[in-house]
Amino acid sequence: MRRAVCPGSFDPVTNGHLDIIGRASRLFDEVIVGVLVNQSKSGLFTVEERIEMLREVTASYGNVRVASFRGLLVDFCRAQRATVLIKGLRAVSDFDYELQMAQMNIGLAGVETLFMPTNPLYSFLSSSLVKDVAKWGGDVTPHVPDVVRDALKARLVPPPP
Ligand code: ADP
Repeated sequence: MRRAVCPGSFDPVTNGHLDIIGRASRLFDEVIVGVLVNQSKSGLFTVEERIEMLREVTASYGNVRVASFRGLLVDFCRAQRATVLIKGLRAVSDFDYELQMAQMNIGLAGVETLFMPTNPLYSFLSSSLVKDVAKWGGDVTPHVPDVVRDALKARLVPPPP
């Protein structure tokens, strides 16, 4: 069975992430979305909330699982018996750092990294930009699944007294 891991923070998942996960799911028998637990950086959503949203929006793919990991990504890949990492590339600015990581990961554990060019519809999209827009009341409907838009609304706009 050919398994790939799509790693990231997913705070929260955007349509750009989903496009990469969906395309990967058509290339591999199983795709594991790995949500990084970063103790030094607390996100807008807890890891459990991110996982729940990811599970909901990837349920229709049928061969996508969601799990969290801490520590080395290659150790997570080994534990999941996955030999490939899939990374989305939005622009050349993503490339320098991703290349370093890919070269480190193949050296550490023989885990290959495949880069997938972003769908141009989403090349400007990042979780942080979506959070910024939502924070100031902008409409993020075209950029995230509805469940994420609703969660952003609930989290960022305090209810009236
Ligand atoms: P972000 O930069 O949005 O916080 P993550 O750390 O969660 O993203 O990224 C996880 C993976 O998803 C990375 O490989 C990243 O390049 C990819 N990714 C993020 N946003 C997009 C997008 N808009 N299009 C394609 N890939 C993306």
